[in-house]
Amino acid sequence: MKDIMPVNGQFEMMRLPYEALGDVISQQTLSFHHGKHLKAYVDNLNKMLPGSGMEGLSLAEVVRRSEGGIFNNAGQVLNHTMYFEQFSTSPRAMSDKFVALLERDFGGVEAFKKEFEQKGATLFGSGWVWLSVDKDAKLVITQQKNAENPVTMGFTPLLTFDVWEHAYYLDYQNRRADYLSALWQLVDWQVVEGRL
Ligand code: MN
Repeated sequence: MKDIMPVNGQFEMMRLPYEALGDVISQQTLSFHHGKHLKAYVDNLNKMLPGSGMEGLSLAEVVRRSEGGIFNNAGQVLNHTMYFEQFSTSPRAMSDKFVALLERDFGGVEAFKKEFEQKGATLFGSGWVWLSVDKDAKLVITQQKNAENPVTMGFTPLLTFDVWEHAYYLDYQNRRADYLSALWQLVDWQVVEGRL
């Protein structure tokens, strides 16, 4: 995965690679989710970093080494950056090689999507569902609470769906499963595979 370095000890707000995402994620959700929620995580992290001993570390390294408030905010900055960057209004398909990996580890693309959606739908409370490469080079789906990211387990994260209510409530209300199944339309698989 592409890691993120601070500039003069501060992390910058990521820019969205699109203006809008059609009906799947409304402009209103995008505006609150990126412009308010992510902004708050970035601002909080930047306030906590000076004097923490973690100035100058990459974002993933801060996530691996921190706990408490720094961990929560750094994790959310990393998670949201990966989430927003993996979507596109003209998403590219997955390669034959990646299809083969999903067949090897999940029995097929549809079986993978079904398990991913099911793990997202059944995560209790706030968190993230992830596709990662584990330490044995196998693709795995994990449910992570709150700000957790699979880098803390030594995995390489590839794809994530945010299941905090702020990610979907304005558009889908309590219908988290509908939000999850709609998100596939936006996933740019070349971005996801580029994290391998
Ligand atoms: Mn979020």
